[in-house]
Amino acid sequence: MSLNKEKVIVIGGGFAGLNCIRELAKNKNVEIILIDKHNCYVFQPLLYQVAVATLEPKDIAVAHRHILAKFQNVTCVMGKASRIDTDKKEVCLENGDLYDYDHLIVTAGASHTYFGNDDWEKHAPGLKTIRDALTIREKMLTSFEKAERLDSIKEAQKYLNFVVVGGGPTGVEIAGNIAEIITRTLTKNFRRIDIKRAKIFLVEGLPKLLPPYPDSLSERTKIDLMKLGVTVLTDSRVLNINSEGVQIGERFIHSNNVIWAAGNKVAPIYDSIDAEKDRAGRVVVNSDFSVPNHPEIFILGDGANYKYGKNKQPLFAIASVAIQQGRYLGKTLSKRFSKKVKSKKHKDKPFRYFDKGMLATIGAFKAVGSFKGIKFKGFIAWFIWGVVHIYYLIGFRNRLSVMLEWIIHHISGTRAARVIIHEIDETTPKNKKHH
Ligand SMILES: Cc1cc2nc3c(=O)[nH]c(=O)nc-3n(C[C@H](O)[C@H](O)[C@H](O)COP(=O)(O)OP(=O)(O)OC[C@H]3O[C@@H](n4cnc5c(N)ncnc54)[C@H](O)[C@@H]3O)c2cc1C
Repeated sequence: MSLNKEKVIVIGGGFAGLNCIRELAKNKNVEIILIDKHNCYVFQPLLYQVAVATLEPKDIAVAHRHILAKFQNVTCVMGKASRIDTDKKEVCLENGDLYDYDHLIVTAGASHTYFGNDDWEKHAPGLKTIRDALTIREKMLTSFEKAERLDSIKEAQKYLNFVVVGGGPTGVEIAGNIAEIITRTLTKNFRRIDIKRAKIFLVEGLPKLLPPYPDSLSERTKIDLMKLGVTVLTDSRVLNINSEGVQIGERFIHSNNVIWAAGNKVAPIYDSIDAEKDRAGRVVVNSDFSVPNHPEIFILGDGANYKYGKNKQPLFAIASVAIQQGRYLGKTLSKRFSKKVKSKKHKDKPFRYFDKGMLATIGAFKAVGSFKGIKFKGFIAWFIWGVVHIYYLIGFRNRLSVMLEWIIHHISGTRAARVIIHEIDETTPKNKKHH
């Protein structure tokens, strides 16, 4: 690494990190090291499509090395950052490897929280990574296979009950899609399952689904889900989750398929940054995303509490915020590091956020969304959702394969990604002699 170049470490190659690097790396005066515990960028808004067996991981994930191949001044390190020594300006990986920096950009995102009930995780996986999506998919597909062997005996019910906890966009998307699997796919492929016994519950602690959305769209979402056969339980608190199912208030629902789509907390690496944090652990940053008292450290995306607008409200933890922040910081630092600007009194352009609105899909041809006060629902909202998601996928091959999968899926109702990797665990209750 050249001595007179600015040495920048970026922790996290997600929406914010990659967009930042792609701008900053245009400046040849900078050497960048991307440290990520995964080797690929994941398009999280479509993770649930892997979980519900519509898409394969390759459709929504691309290797960092591939995306950044054209930038000779970027090095990718697959490693897990466990600590930041802000005095020595070093990032420490879990095995003790050290990387020193002049400037550090932390974009490590968030993961789910079980609000202090960490033992629930083994029974109710959340959806944040490719591995999570495959765990959910594997459990769901195996449940259908077990239910087919149990057919009419009462133990089958546990494998045919699906409980999604959390009525935000992810919970709504998963619940709607599971309902469609049951009505459109299972009926064609299974012979003994009594489809009428399959039940999907969507549980939300607040009085309405999609809490940040206008009331009319929340109501429309509820109606659309109920039409698909989903039982929506709002104002309902989960009290316990174990291997048998979920306790919701007075009611116990037996289920082998509990999916956690509630609650976010920032990645643990933010603990090593000594700064003011909000309740979700997000670091309260300055207007240029730097950490107060650490002008050389910047936080972007889900890990940043960035107060914006007249009311100084923190921006949402969503992809479009992370992308815009990443691009802004990449361009801003690139200017700061450029030789011409260094010599003059340089003033950064302020960050301007363009609010692209909200969109959530409920099932095939059904979605809700709003943009600058205009509300969309039904097919139009679903169409916009599809175009937006295809547009933001990285890589021509990914866009093409997702489009093809969607066309085949929507016309035929088939789900291509239905391979169960593990062999069956014979914990299925004994049924009878099959004829
Ligand atoms: C299921 C799901 C659906 C979503 N749907 C939408 C949607 O429809 N619309 C929308 O706008 N937003 C959606 N979001 C939110 C959106 O994906 C996030 O806001 C966005 O990913 C945040 O970007 P980020 O760069 O901050 O973090 P991320 O994109 O999460 O990237 C963080 C990166 O940091 C890496 N990392 C974490 N810890 C470490 C460590 N210690 N060491 C090294 N690397 C580390 C991770 O491997 C990851 O690559 C969804 C999120 C999820 C989980």
